[in-house]
Amino acid sequence: MTLFTYQFRFCPDVLLLILPYEPSAQSSFLRQRWCVNIDPGDYTYKVEKVDMVEGIVEALRELKKRGYEFIVITNQGGIAKGLYSYDDVKAVNKAITSFLGDRGIAILDIYYCPHHTDYGKCLCRKPDSLLLEKAAARYGVDKSKSYFVGDKQRDIDAGEKAGIEGVLIGVNEDLGNYLNRFC
Ligand SMILES: [Zn+2]
Repeated sequence: MTLFTYQFRFCPDVLLLILPYEPSAQSSFLRQRWCVNIDPGDYTYKVEKVDMVEGIVEALRELKKRGYEFIVITNQGGIAKGLYSYDDVKAVNKAITSFLGDRGIAILDIYYCPHHTDYGKCLCRKPDSLLLEKAAARYGVDKSKSYFVGDKQRDIDAGEKAGIEGVLIGVNEDLGNYLNRFC
């Protein structure tokens, strides 16, 4: 992992920032307070209200100015568990995309793993990196100029496996506090 936290670097034209979100009760960062009807300990959710973590829109706007594009990679193991459906996930993804799109922030794509380790092995669930690899291939991502932002160690591990530098942030923490980590 490169160390350049406080070091100035010229920014290339297009970079990619990959933002995970997770459906668990404690998480996260992108999804927190998105939906009501969250039962603690239960994955069930419906999109009724979109409300983002403090500072996320401003932080993404700033990163966009610096030339970043955004892709979301997310574990959605509740599908494998039968707790919610593909359609539920698509609805949440659409809400995320619309909410940010209305504020001038385009999400290029959202990749999700519908599997869970309790129900078999896959290669796409973080900390595995298949979805990152797919996204990188599909969008011609320069991994050396990209970051994988997450609030769990498995996000960082997935990034590392894919050769993308991780930025670990606190759960529900303002991404704006970490802007000096990005070129
Ligand atoms: Zn999977």
